[in-house]
Amino acid sequence: MPAKDHMHIYHAVGKDRIQFMCIDADCSHTQVRNLLIGKRAQCVCGSEYKLDYYALTRKVPKCFVCRKEKRSKGRVVKASVMKEILGV
Ligand SMILES: [Zn+2]
Ligand SMILES: [Zn+2]
Repeated sequence: MPAKDHMHIYHAVGKDRIQFMCIDADCSHTQVRNLLIGKRAQCVCGSEYKLDYYALTRKVPKCFVCRKEKRSKGRVVKASVMKEILGV
């Protein structure tokens, strides 16, 4: 089956994370990590970004915005936990 015309959303295959595959149900695209550095991909949030070495160390590579969001969300959770503990 030929790959659809779309930006691939990558997901690591196996524990070593050397090979990545597209999560699209109709797409059978796979690629090795070394050949993905600098390539365009789509993030799970829908925005387009360029894969870099750091993104490819993750099981699900993410765009810069999502990487930042995760950190800020962590702060929000911490604040709410603090509120619970302190009973504010
Ligand atoms: Zn694909
Ligand atoms: Zn994203």
